[in-house]
Amino acid sequence: MKVYNFSAGPSTLPKEVLIEAQKDLLDYNGSGMSVLEMSHRGKVFDEIHNEALSLFSELLGISDDYYILFLQGGASQQFDAVPLNLLKKGRADYIVTGNFASKAYRQAQKYGDIHIAASSKDKNYTYIPDVDNITFREDIDYVHITTNNTIFGTKYNRLPKTKAPLVADMSSNIMSEVMDINKFGLIYAGAQKNIAPAGLTVVAIKKELVGDPMDICPTMLNYKTFADANSMPNTPCCFAIYIAMLNFRYLKKLGGVKEIQKINEYKAKLLYDFIDNSDFYTNSVNPADRSIMNVPFVTPDKDTDIKFIKEAAENGLVSLKGHRLVGGMRASIYNFMPVEGVKALIDFMKKFEMQNK
Ligand SMILES: *Cc1c(COP(=O)(O)O)cnc(C)c1O
Repeated sequence: MKVYNFSAGPSTLPKEVLIEAQKDLLDYNGSGMSVLEMSHRGKVFDEIHNEALSLFSELLGISDDYYILFLQGGASQQFDAVPLNLLKKGRADYIVTGNFASKAYRQAQKYGDIHIAASSKDKNYTYIPDVDNITFREDIDYVHITTNNTIFGTKYNRLPKTKAPLVADMSSNIMSEVMDINKFGLIYAGAQKNIAPAGLTVVAIKKELVGDPMDICPTMLNYKTFADANSMPNTPCCFAIYIAMLNFRYLKKLGGVKEIQKINEYKAKLLYDFIDNSDFYTNSVNPADRSIMNVPFVTPDKDTDIKFIKEAAENGLVSLKGHRLVGGMRASIYNFMPVEGVKALIDFMKKFEMQNK
């Protein structure tokens, strides 16, 4: 049975892309071999790699002032790489809006004087602090934010104004809505939520920020190592990059980020409207800060939540269990979750409510 997969990541890929990858699996484009096998230094892979890099910046409207880097190690490795590369005065401010933001902050503390400029921990991260009322310290190297909070289901709708470069973990909402990346000094994302299978980590960094890391920065975490080698100082995650390229082509054909944004907003609205009009399901996020990617919700009690998750899976709606920090359910409805998947979830929620009220 084909299921709808609401996993927070790795996540659903477009069926068209999977079929194309299957078609090419044994013999990519007449090369006589699979992308899984070929040298990353060969001409065939080189074309895949360069097309993926250029479609990435084209889809996001990133100017030539930035390096696009394809890395490994996940977004989590960037929690270290960012301070190791960007700390010069040794000071940075973080806005802590969830578990990953908190992890990023804690890692950075190993490398300098790191300060929490604002946090939404007081209400279990159910809102985004008012960005206009945050005061940042003087003489900081950067400000770090997490644009979408995967576990708690919030997102920024406006950016804080800072003199220092703005750095963002965009793992769970990159390419899901139009954002002006040129306002950031650096963005990074684990690709396994919105743009590719697991293994690839993407970074866009202003060129002027590259090349002056801390002395202790390992070579393989130094952005310059990758910038100087077109992201190939060593073997990249070739197959993930290939699927990313197919996904980028798919997105481009669809009309780009502004089109997928409309679809994403439509999917999210269907689900939130249904939850808000129900007296059985609840989402406790501040409505103005709701994520359009990750939608946490609960039924009236914990036992019913467990029953919901089990019966949903039996009905082909899988990976709906919420993160242990929040409990209940979470529907991750990233770029490639079809509208039909969200409609199927809502139909199931209606039925479940009638049977369990
Ligand atoms: C998933 C996620 C991470 C962790 O990503 P890895 O690639 O598994 O290290 C970090 N930040 C955010 C916002 C995420 O959603």
